Amino acid sequence: MSIKLLDPQTASKIAAGEVIERPAGVLKELIENSLDAGAKTINIDILKAGKTLIRVNDDGCGIKREELSLAIKRHTTSKITKFDDLNNLNTFGFRGEALYSLAAVSKLKISSCQSEKEGGAMLEVCGGEITAEAAAPAIKGTTIEVKDLFFNTPARLKFLKSDNVERAHLLRTIEEAALANINTTFNVNTDGVSVYRLSAEEDTEEGLRKRLNKILGGELAKNLLFCQDESFGFKAFISPLNNLCASRDNQFFFINKRPVTSKVLQQALYKAYQPYRAKEKHPCAVIFLAINPAEFDVNIHPQKKDIKFAFENDIFNFLYNKITETLLAEQEVINTPLTEEISFESKPVQIEKEPIQEAQNDEEQKEIPLDLSEIINKHLAEKNKNLFVNDFEERKNYCAKPQSSQNEQAELTQKSSDLPKWWQGPYNYLGQIHQSFLVFENPQGLVLVDQHAAQERVLFEKYFKEIELGNVPSQPLMFPISVQMPSSTLEQVLNYKDFLLKIGFEITRFSATCLMVNSVPNILQFKEEDLKDFIVALPQDLKADEVNLKYKLIAMRACKRAIKAGEKLNKEQVEVLMENLKKCKDALHCPHGRPTILTFTTTEIAKRFERT
Ligand code: ADP
Ligand code: MG
Repeated sequence: MSIKLLDPQTASKIAAGEVIERPAGVLKELIENSLDAGAKTINIDILKAGKTLIRVNDDGCGIKREELSLAIKRHTTSKITKFDDLNNLNTFGFRGEALYSLAAVSKLKISSCQSEKEGGAMLEVCGGEITAEAAAPAIKGTTIEVKDLFFNTPARLKFLKSDNVERAHLLRTIEEAALANINTTFNVNTDGVSVYRLSAEEDTEEGLRKRLNKILGGELAKNLLFCQDESFGFKAFISPLNNLCASRDNQFFFINKRPVTSKVLQQALYKAYQPYRAKEKHPCAVIFLAINPAEFDVNIHPQKKDIKFAFENDIFNFLYNKITETLLAEQEVINTPLTEEISFESKPVQIEKEPIQEAQNDEEQKEIPLDLSEIINKHLAEKNKNLFVNDFEERKNYCAKPQSSQNEQAELTQKSSDLPKWWQGPYNYLGQIHQSFLVFENPQGLVLVDQHAAQERVLFEKYFKEIELGNVPSQPLMFPISVQMPSSTLEQVLNYKDFLLKIGFEITRFSATCLMVNSVPNILQFKEEDLKDFIVALPQDLKADEVNLKYKLIAMRACKRAIKAGEKLNKEQVEVLMENLKKCKDALHCPHGRPTILTFTTTEIAKRFERT
């Protein structure tokens, strides 16, 4: 084959794909252009998750009538003229190809007016070709409509995700922009419904709190700690130790008002929380830094989000120390060296998942030892009331009588072939220690059972079996639980609505930032906070692709958060638990893989006592 030059149309479509991957990428470029134009108000309308329409209207400086057609040409920009400018750039979009790329892969309409005296102009472009030019209303500002995105690149169109998922990305983009630009008013509608009405606020702690309140929801926002420092223009809102969240989505980093992702920043955050953080709990953090543009590389990523610092260790230490200081000031009891110098290495802290990357299974990761926040959380959890109408005693299945009749039971204990290999009965129950471990004597020696691990295993197998059979009895909550979250998270959760229904949870949208949980599986019972955590953490828990894996994972999560039998078990309850355990496929491990039963043989014990 001979080498040929691509025709300009094909080349532009290919290039567009590098700039724009999905509707959220379009929106990001349009919002950044509006901000660069000095907009005080930005109105955003989205139809069908941006696949049908994304419209951004602003009251910024506008574009001159004669320059309108220039704006959609490649490498045209009003923002830089020479390469050096790239290092001192204070605007957002600067590649000079956003509008050009958009014009290539959508039906684009720009109307803009720079001065009301001169009037406005309008331009329509379809797949890169100008199809109409006309006058536009003399209202200062710009409106850009992107219709039928990827209509001429079917392969890209096919790669778009469900509306919920694409909407989640769109809303996240808006949330980031709105947190970084609180002087700007943002009005957001999706499919004609108002999602955010964010009026301009002053750039103060109070102003930021107001905006955070509207985006994160009052429950989460009200407790956040505020800290600031003159170095690096540092300003941050972070979770107090006793109020971490189940979702990793509530973390926002901004450098010079630009939303960024950065391993260094994220790991500094987690490092500061590490001594106090329970597994599956994450800090909420909204962190602003101002850094000389010459000291970091903004352009290592085509979406201009991933940041590389010239001075990684300094910024890592700075952030780690500031957050630690703030946390310690709140929690006098905690003892931790204050301004310890540590270096950022490629992997200094175990972070269960970075927000942007695919999820891993938390349970497979190293346990963080019991710590203060776990104790605090437990204390808080205990204060929560039960939400169920039914008598809990009747429904805690792992303590219910096994279903087999007495005769069958007698047979069970006799027919050794029916018994699992590990069963070395009879088990003579001796008692309970620390309301956690059950002590037995059996022919082998001494047997310890971790009662909570055992209960979780029994509950998990029962629940998972119901899921496999496609028959999970559901229990309506007398008082449905409302769960607040940012709209972007809410869309991600709603994406799993049908999945949840199959496993016994019924959720509905209550508002743009609030979900209701109406029903839960019959056999599970939750404290309110644990149920909320379960729902909010769903999107990150459910990234695994294989459906059966998803069911397994989620059953595990649910059982972990469900209330187990009381701490104190009577002899009868212990017997029932052991009978139920006997029927489990994998009785020797809790769903997370920890052992449920330990046996110390008489020989071993004798050895320990140095008897021969
Ligand atoms: P860049 O932002 O990198 O300059 P774009 O393709 O995004 O490139 O935009 C091209 C030019 O169009 C901008 O430099 C700016 O002059 C003009 N422009 C785009 N959007 C707006 C807007 N909302 N208000 C005013 N001018 C705009
Ligand atoms: Mg731009």
